[in-house]
Amino acid sequence: MIYIGCHLSVTDGYAAMGKTMSAFGGNTFAWFTRNPRGGKTKPVIPEDVEALREHLHKEGFGPLVAHGSYTMNLCSAKEETRANGLDMLTQDLARMELLPGNFYNFHPGAHTGQGTETGIRQIAEALRGVMHADMQTTVLLETMAGKGSEIGGSFEELREIIDRVDMGDRLGVCFDTCHTWDAGYDIVGDPDGVLTRFDEVIGLSRLKAVHFNDSKNERGSHKDRHEKLGEGCIGMEAMKRLALHPALQGRPFILETPNDDEGYIREIHTVLEWQA
Ligand code: FE
Ligand code: FE
Ligand code: ZN
Repeated sequence: MIYIGCHLSVTDGYAAMGKTMSAFGGNTFAWFTRNPRGGKTKPVIPEDVEALREHLHKEGFGPLVAHGSYTMNLCSAKEETRANGLDMLTQDLARMELLPGNFYNFHPGAHTGQGTETGIRQIAEALRGVMHADMQTTVLLETMAGKGSEIGGSFEELREIIDRVDMGDRLGVCFDTCHTWDAGYDIVGDPDGVLTRFDEVIGLSRLKAVHFNDSKNERGSHKDRHEKLGEGCIGMEAMKRLALHPALQGRPFILETPNDDEGYIREIHTVLEWQA
């Protein structure tokens, strides 16, 4: 089986997200550690975090997948942006330790003209500076669509970051189905081949979470526009094959599809029916 859930708003606190997801029928979720565009965070209330931890335990939730801010770019050509990103990463990872054993995923970054090699080096240096051996959080690099100067549009680029950071299994990958498809990997025609390739380049043991999205665009478009399950170019049959794929079992699957609550509830139940 897999765990299934969607992105939730942290506005009403941590415990509220657990309750909402249980009401939706899911057993994992994602949230933005701060406003995805801005930088602000609210102070954490220890009782609220504790209530969520109890709920997760009682309801048998899978690992949660917090998402770092889109504005965080660890390899921008602008030094101020890089420093700002490092600040956000440091604070986010400190906060994640209040919820030990979960995942923190982020977009590796966009090199904004500096070149892929420099970008990879700067991302790895930032992570090395912030991560430590006894942290309880697993950091996940997201597979990207390869839009503009984005790093992470190929498995090889992610592997290079992982090698340079050299933090053992504290660093893994979040496999975004829309992004991977948009980057050019044929998860429709040859899912086995793509996952075998992932295993050869990175290792499936590092594939810790899935962002489960259809795509508005054709394979290799490098666009990164998510679509509802079954309404995009990946299609329902291929999405179902991925959710049931032996290589992906046990992972949290997070919906980032363009939906309201009703839509998420429907998609969560679609996935649960596949598994039944
Ligand atoms: Fe993302
Ligand atoms: Fe994603
Ligand atoms: Zn995306």
